Amino acid sequence: MKLFDHPNKKFMSRFERYEPFIQDYTQMNTLDACDRKYFYRMVLGRAPKRTNFQVVLDFGKAYHKFREVLERSSQSGLNEMSSLGAGIEAALSVELDVPPRGSKFEYLDKAKLLAACKVAFIWWQQEKKQGTKKVIAIEQPFNVMLPDGSFIGGRADQIIDWNGKRYGRDFKCSSKTPEYFQKGIDPNDQCVRYTVGESEISGERVVGIIFEALFHSNTGKTRIEPFLSERTDSQLAIWLAEKVHINEQLKLNREKDIWPMRTHNCAWCDYIKVCRASSERAQMGILEMDYNLKPWNHENVDQEVVE
Ligand code: SF4
Repeated sequence: MKLFDHPNKKFMSRFERYEPFIQDYTQMNTLDACDRKYFYRMVLGRAPKRTNFQVVLDFGKAYHKFREVLERSSQSGLNEMSSLGAGIEAALSVELDVPPRGSKFEYLDKAKLLAACKVAFIWWQQEKKQGTKKVIAIEQPFNVMLPDGSFIGGRADQIIDWNGKRYGRDFKCSSKTPEYFQKGIDPNDQCVRYTVGESEISGERVVGIIFEALFHSNTGKTRIEPFLSERTDSQLAIWLAEKVHINEQLKLNREKDIWPMRTHNCAWCDYIKVCRASSERAQMGILEMDYNLKPWNHENVDQEVVE
């Protein structure tokens, strides 16, 4: 995997650097949260041994496996019930973390996962019966060069044709309300990034992304709701110019080897004990002791995502 050069190592200079040259949504999301967090996770490749939301990540991964295998099995000629069986087997192969007692995500267990698969299967059956959406690609990776020679990458859950237009489709799991979820899809970096990337790999302008959200909670019913998020050519052009600008800022971080602490989200951050240590030496000790060396690679869809 191609990495960025760091010829001017000053901060934590004893550590190797693994910053991926191809930038995906999770990398940029991490940078948005905090430059220092980006440095720990994406440059030094250090991942928490256990995140506060491990079971949420595991549940999302299992649900994605289900959707992927269900569709793939059906496209390979298996009947609906056999496709369902293959999907459930794939979902159950993902181990779910057991959250600490009293955690608000204690309800995310195998029974809840099976309930989610059942709801999704019925949704999927109805869509197949209607026949208005055609899935043309599943789990399709993309790497696209930007005007400054940098690359963005990602992996499309699905690319589909619907009403004579092409869309990306992204499966989400959420414990929030649909109203709250909707607020997060515009503006949304992933939506534009995937619209650009999926247009490139499918050879046709993708109009936008359909976020198909599975809502779960410890009290309410599990249900699915789709949210359409389209982007115009002018929005894509502005996004591209902003990405080039952010790359300039990142280049400056690299050149000076300064990774500013953005403290707005510290209370929820998995790296807070590193940042609280009183010296660079102590911070390095904590990163070595309490974090795994797990360099980021966007093509490895099974890696843990620390949001
Ligand atoms: S604890 Fe705060 S400053 Fe440190 S990495 Fe996390 S968000 Fe950034």
